[in-house]
Amino acid sequence: MDWRRKKARKIAWERIQILFQLALEEGRKGNLERARRYVEHMRNLSQKYKVRLPKEIKMYFCKKCNSILIPGKTSQVRLKKKKIVIKCLNCGNYKRYPYKR
Ligand SMILES: [Zn+2]
Repeated sequence: MDWRRKKARKIAWERIQILFQLALEEGRKGNLERARRYVEHMRNLSQKYKVRLPKEIKMYFCKKCNSILIPGKTSQVRLKKKKIVIKCLNCGNYKRYPYKR
């Protein structure tokens, strides 16, 4: 990979982190449409520059409807048999993660 591409990916990753923070902030304020636009933008960047989103970010948005997932607000979080089950309260989609102690 040449340096130009590396640099582009680095910039994309920085923007992804900023967009994620913005999406969380807007989500907490209840501006869910705006939060969704940030999430969409973030996912586009991730695809375009092939930057993998870490689990810590993936856990906080819905793959199906791009909603930001804030526990107790836009998502429901449950612990089930060594799994974390997160439900999107907007579209009802579930995501599951193994629960590590
Ligand atoms: Zn959803």
